[in-house]
Amino acid sequence: MTDTILVVNCGSSSLKLALFDQQFKKIASALAERLNNPDAFAHIAGQEAPVPLPTGADHGQALASLVKAFNESGYMSQPPKAIGHRVVHGGETFRESTLVSDDTMTAIEACAELAPLHNPVNLEGIRAMRELFPDIPHVVVFDTAFHLTLPPRAYRYALPEQCYTDWSIRRYGFHGTSHSFMVQEAANRLNQTPATTSIISAHLGNGCSITAIRDGLSVDTSMGLTPLEGLVMGTRSGDVDPGLFDFLAARGISAADAHHMLNYDSGLLGLSGQTNDMRTLCELADHGHEPSRLAIDVFCFRLARYIGAMTSSLDRLDALVFTGGIGENSARVRSQTASHLKLLGVRLDEELNHHHGRISDGRIESPESNYPVLVIPTNEELVIAREANLRAHN
Ligand code: ADP
Repeated sequence: MTDTILVVNCGSSSLKLALFDQQFKKIASALAERLNNPDAFAHIAGQEAPVPLPTGADHGQALASLVKAFNESGYMSQPPKAIGHRVVHGGETFRESTLVSDDTMTAIEACAELAPLHNPVNLEGIRAMRELFPDIPHVVVFDTAFHLTLPPRAYRYALPEQCYTDWSIRRYGFHGTSHSFMVQEAANRLNQTPATTSIISAHLGNGCSITAIRDGLSVDTSMGLTPLEGLVMGTRSGDVDPGLFDFLAARGISAADAHHMLNYDSGLLGLSGQTNDMRTLCELADHGHEPSRLAIDVFCFRLARYIGAMTSSLDRLDALVFTGGIGENSARVRSQTASHLKLLGVRLDEELNHHHGRISDGRIESPESNYPVLVIPTNEELVIAREANLRAHN
């Protein structure tokens, strides 16, 4: 049995595990959902039978059950060489992936106020895995760390200084593992080195964000203090007028209800009144459903607007990059977005776009385009596995 690296990604009611070999090839993955609910369940990818869980299993119990199942399936007959944990918010403390110690745990707890839905559950996963594997290195990889190179002009809000100095209110940015992977992969495809590559990276999944990367470093990004700011997303509104909260309060909608509305009932779902799923929206729009067409229009227009805005942070653009479930799979979204970028000279080859760049090493621009346009599948688990391997031995 070769050495393995295990990647743990705990969400609010779910968790994902991925196991990599020494060559960073994924050898197994598993998912647990509806945790802390009576119908919590888990399974290993490719296996029909679910992994038995205690009723109403929490993250720790689900991790213990899945580790046992990996063990019994022969995927992980000895402890992994290192474990990489995804942590959503590292505040201004964590500039890079870090080996877990008791001090690290305390510092992550201190960032929990900035991500109350995510950091506590991330910590729960780390604690459970440290108990199961006390003698191997655990490494935390932060969604925010890649963006700590943002200059103050990009991360400060135009608010009284106290908001920043006393309450740490600033723009942090998220999806850092995906955006950092994009610049590495784009550099490979363009025969450049990441440290001298400048791209605009659009990560379009259920959550969506866009980042300007200059010479390998994040210099502007669309998400802010929380992952709500910026682009239109599956159920999140993205940018709205901050005056909205007062306006809603005057209509009896509390701050908590407004928060729920903007996070869970808005975005593609809110506009279409049907679904947050882009594939279904495209089908509905094709059948003449106007609200779905509008949802796609607003999504693409906002994205194009942000692409234009991101050029303010760059002095060169080596590629515009699309990734995430929508970015990788929706020719319609890429094409419609590019149609708003004529002034920038972004032009797609619709045949290459239709094939999602899979017949052209990711390239989908036409010869007359001012800039290369790339479709690159993201792989956040791989980034975490690589980081875990690297830090575990430093
Ligand atoms: P998450 O952010 O949860 O990881 P994904 O990156 O998997 O999500 O992206 C999910 C989104 O990708 C959904 O809106 C889904 O409809 C969209 N998507 C996946 N495949 C397609 C497709 N073929 N065409 C359009 N959208 C797609």
